[in-house]
Amino acid sequence: MKVKCLIIGSGPAGYTAAIYASRANLAPVLIEGPQLGGQLTTTTEVENFPGYPDGIDPFTMMDDMRRQAERFGTTFVSGIVTKVEFAAPVTGNPSPVTHKVWVEDTDLYEADAVIIATGASAKYLGIESERTYRGRGVSACATCDGFFYRKKTVAVVGGGDTACEEANYLAGLCEKVYMIVRKPYLRASEIMQQRVLNNPKIEVLFEHNTLQLTGEGKVQGADLIFRKGEPDEAIKHIAIDGFFLAIGHHPNTGLFRDFIALDPEGYIITEGHSTQCYQPVTGNPSPVTPLPGVFAAGDCADPHYRQAVVAAGSGAKAAIEADKYIKSL
Ligand code: NDP
Repeated sequence: MKVKCLIIGSGPAGYTAAIYASRANLAPVLIEGPQLGGQLTTTTEVENFPGYPDGIDPFTMMDDMRRQAERFGTTFVSGIVTKVEFAAPVTGNPSPVTHKVWVEDTDLYEADAVIIATGASAKYLGIESERTYRGRGVSACATCDGFFYRKKTVAVVGGGDTACEEANYLAGLCEKVYMIVRKPYLRASEIMQQRVLNNPKIEVLFEHNTLQLTGEGKVQGADLIFRKGEPDEAIKHIAIDGFFLAIGHHPNTGLFRDFIALDPEGYIITEGHSTQCYQPVTGNPSPVTPLPGVFAAGDCADPHYRQAVVAAGSGAKAAIEADKYIKSL
C-alpha cells in the first residue's frame, strides 16, 4: 500500500500527528502498535493535560484523540511494525525516496513521510507484586500520579537524577518519602543529591532492594532487603501508600537503529526545534545528514520531559514538518 504519511504509535504524539496530518489532507495511516493509547494508559487519571479541569481517565482521553484524528480522515491499522527500511537519497538522483514499513512481517506500506512516535517504556523491577498493584499504588511517573498521594507516605526506587527529582517533587506533596537505593551512594548529580539529602521529608534507604509489595487491593507496604548476601542482611518493612519506579526508561527505537541516528541510550536524535531524523553516522557521534521524510515525536526522542502534553506538541510539529516535506516533492 502506498501512502503519503505513515505514523507509527498511538500515544499522544502519534494521535496529535494524525490530527494535524489528516487536517492537512495527507490521509495518514497510523499503525497502533502493541499498547493502544501508549504509556499514558498505565496511569489511573490524567489531571495535568490542559483542557480537562476535572481530570480525565487516560483511556477516554486517548480515545477522544483517536476519534478526533478519525474525524479528519486518519486510517488506523491495528498491528505491530516488525521491520522498516528507510531510504536515503542517492547523490545526483533528485527522485524522492520511499520509506518502507512492514506490519506483522507481511503487510508492506510505502510512505513518502514516516512519523515515528513509538514512545518509551518505563523500566520496572520485575517483581510479581509490581504487576499486581499496577495502577493501584504502583506508578512510574511522579508528575502524573503524585497528586493522588498528597499527605501520604510513598517510596521512590532508584538513585539517579530522575529518582531524586521525583523524590523532591513528591516531598512537596507527601507526608514522607522513602528513597530505595540499591547502592551505598546516589548516582545522581551532586546538586540533586544535596536537595534530596537536605530535605527533611526524604529518608534514603541505601543498599536496600524491594522484595515485594503488600496490601489489601492496593499498595500498603513494601518488604525490603538490606545488604542482600552480606552477614548483616536484614528484612525491613515500610508502610507506604504509593510505590514510584524511577529506574530509567527504554525508548522503543530498536527497530530503527540501522536507519536513523540514536543517542547512546537509544533516543532518536533530532536537531534543535525540529523533529527531523538523521542518518546514522558510523564512527562519528555527530549526526550531520538529515534523512528526508523521517520525523520523530514524543518520548522516543525525548529523554527529558516525558509528558503527554509535550509529546502531543511534538506530534503537531512532526506533522507540520511532514506536510511541508511532502508538498516540496
Ligand atoms: P539512571 O540510569 O541515571 O539511574 C537509574 C537509577 O536506577 C540508578 O540509581 C540505578 O541504580 C537504579 N536502578 C536501575 N535498575 C535498578 C533495579 N533493578 N533495582 C533498583 N535500582 C535500579 O536513570 P535516570 O532516569 O535517573 O536518568 C537518565 C538520564 O537522564 C541520566 O543521564 C540523568 O542524568 C538524566 N536526567 C537528568 C535530569 C536533570 O538533570 N534534572 C533529570 C532526570 C534525568 P545503580 O546506580 O545501582 O545502577
